[in-house]
Amino acid sequence: MEKNLISIIIPVHNEENNLSLIYKQLKKVLDNTNYLFEIIFVNDGSTDNSSAELDKITNNDYTVKVVEFSRNFGKEAATTAGLEICHGSACIIIDADLQHPVGLIPEFLQKWESGADVIIGVRHENKGEGLIKRAGSFIFYQTINVISETEITPRATDYRLLDRIVIEEFKKLKEKNRMTRALIDWLGFKRDYVYFNANERLYGNPSYSYLKLFRLAVSSYISHSLFPLKFAGYMGIFITSSSTLLGLSMLIDKFFLEKPYKMNFSGTAMLATIILFLIGIVLSCLGLIALYIGNIHTEVVGRPMYIIKEKVNF
Ligand code: UDP
Ligand code: MG
Repeated sequence: MEKNLISIIIPVHNEENNLSLIYKQLKKVLDNTNYLFEIIFVNDGSTDNSSAELDKITNNDYTVKVVEFSRNFGKEAATTAGLEICHGSACIIIDADLQHPVGLIPEFLQKWESGADVIIGVRHENKGEGLIKRAGSFIFYQTINVISETEITPRATDYRLLDRIVIEEFKKLKEKNRMTRALIDWLGFKRDYVYFNANERLYGNPSYSYLKLFRLAVSSYISHSLFPLKFAGYMGIFITSSSTLLGLSMLIDKFFLEKPYKMNFSGTAMLATIILFLIGIVLSCLGLIALYIGNIHTEVVGRPMYIIKEKVNF
């Protein structure tokens, strides 16, 4: 680790038109600060000319490093790779598509200097973002914050600065199915925020289709909460108890009640109640299994039990 060195990590997937632009913008901003920089592009299996564009940049500038993936592994893998190989005493993760304003880097650095360990870029609103995507992200953040154990800031982006201490802790996390920003949130540490308006994507299409976003959402639900499975259990308890009540009232009706009050439930109704009762039991058992799976899940994922921020007088 070098003092005063800041690593810039940029995941790249089919960004041929954006690369030289973001490089130039970065250069301009970074040259006006008192830090040294290493720029790391992680080329996540681009199928366009991104690779050649990156060659052009590295041929002229030895401070730029490139990691080439053998195929597309996804942005989460690309940022993880960047975090694992960077040397800086802090790193900044930024998108290649210029949606994250490069000009804010000095503000990130300044907040870092004043003591924050994690600085998170939060966007005001994404111009050119469809209604479906906005509604989707609204629902996602509302629900995940209700059901998950870690708090996740709405509209927080992957545009982040991490102190070395956070990077080192991040590298210890071994789970494969990951959402980088949720993991960073899980780690804790002193946070600060930088607010910005997301620009429209300049060139190319967002690589995240609705389907990919949906899958990412589902996988973060699953890795941050057992609620979906426990929900089956709650349903089971509800169904079992209500069909028990119904069955009891049927028995009372059959054996104890007399003419004007007698309802005379049909055999079909009784059968249906028994079946409901049994379904309820099966569902409750699923919920029970959820509890066991939850234990297995935490053991397998092997997250550290705690994260130490600082030790005094050791
Ligand atoms: N990206 C990547 N691998 C992928 C998809 C995207 O490295 O499989 C990169 C992409 O090049 C960009 C960043 O991740 O730098 C954000 O991607 P995108 O703009 O598609 O997502 P959004 O802006 O919708 O979050
Ligand atoms: Mg984008």
